[in-house]
Amino acid sequence: MRRDSSKKMFDMAQKVLVGGVNSPVRAFRSVGGEPVFFASAKGAVMRDVDGNDYVDYVGSWGPMILGHSRPEVTRALLESVEKGTSFGAPGEMEHLLGALVCERVNSVEKIRFVNSGTEATMGALRLARGFTGRAKAIKFEGCYHGHGDSFLIKAGSGALTFGEPDSSGVTAGVAKDTLTAQFNDLESVMALADNNPGEIAAVIVEPVAGNMGVIGPRPGFLQGLRELCDRDGIVLIFDEVMTGFRVGPGSAQGLFGVTPDLTCMGKVIGGGLPVGAFGGKAEIMDNLSPLGPVYQAGTLSGNPLAMAAGYATLSLLTQDVYDALESYGARLEAGLIERAKNAGVPVAINRVGSMMTMFFTTSRVFDFASAKTTDTARFGAFFNAMLNAGVYLPPSAFEAWFISAAHVDAELEKTLDAAKAAFA
Ligand code: PLP
Repeated sequence: MRRDSSKKMFDMAQKVLVGGVNSPVRAFRSVGGEPVFFASAKGAVMRDVDGNDYVDYVGSWGPMILGHSRPEVTRALLESVEKGTSFGAPGEMEHLLGALVCERVNSVEKIRFVNSGTEATMGALRLARGFTGRAKAIKFEGCYHGHGDSFLIKAGSGALTFGEPDSSGVTAGVAKDTLTAQFNDLESVMALADNNPGEIAAVIVEPVAGNMGVIGPRPGFLQGLRELCDRDGIVLIFDEVMTGFRVGPGSAQGLFGVTPDLTCMGKVIGGGLPVGAFGGKAEIMDNLSPLGPVYQAGTLSGNPLAMAAGYATLSLLTQDVYDALESYGARLEAGLIERAKNAGVPVAINRVGSMMTMFFTTSRVFDFASAKTTDTARFGAFFNAMLNAGVYLPPSAFEAWFISAAHVDAELEKTLDAAKAAFA
């Protein structure tokens, strides 16, 4: 597969963009090779600037749950763009999308829209601190909550991919207020809470971890966090930026039946446009400016295009869509396991609905330490073989693969044929 134009563009991009990209994992550094530049995308397929087609399992890192360029979403955007692209003042779509989220996600009584998942988690943590009058937060090793200073402590996603889970530039003063526990290990959380009585403002968790690869919660883990937070007056924040409307109509909290105090969202709720949000109990949310003393604001927050794309996307997400995603996911998982087994390659697949990761390991993967047993060199070789066969996986061993409603049998067959050859 020739990628001459991608190569040329990467050369040009590196002259003006840091590392040639605007988000680190896109640079392909952990898998070797050079990034592919894309020209267009439709359904489950992305076309690069050289005219090569790829079955896409990145889905823009999660938002494209309906597939690319879904006509209803495109139409909503076109209608919106003709009415103006930004008002910096209230518009109808903001409360319509807000009402849709509140209706579907039980814990969300009030919501604030922002422009990214990073902004959502930063806002939620500040709010939890303002509400409780406490400074510290507990997060989990390998979980990623965007690039806010407080969260770049033992972080997942690109930070983990590049071996920089603790970023330079985060001051010791900030870092001391972030405590880290182990995912799926309640005792590690309990110990931190007990050693810091009256000081913990929030526990923030990805209810399904997606940024050290996909890792589901063990039975009782999320419920245990809920009980601990109730006991100690701690705000429980579910970071559902990845899982929100991805793993089910009520998001992860609906799937596992545990109610957080605050929820962070992004990705799917923007239908492919830059959006984030945080919401939860009115009692807590009403502490936000302009009602309360916790300041948060945004020039483009609630942007009409983003709200229109999000509203159109959520409107199309019926139970049938989730059933189809589950069916494709189950067949993909089973097909990959069979082909790996036939080739004698040890893999462990974790999947929750339409997000999954294949780890190259003989261990079960249930936390950060076990995720790190994945053979990253083997993943790199697999990734490049798949890429050259026209299957675009996330360029990191520690990321979630995303399936869309546009993935159909033809894409499944192409993926499994490519995997068979790649395993060999
Ligand atoms: N939280 C989680 C769970 C995420 O997966 C991400 C991004 O991948 C973020 C927060 C940050 O979102 P954004 O990249 O939109 O800032």
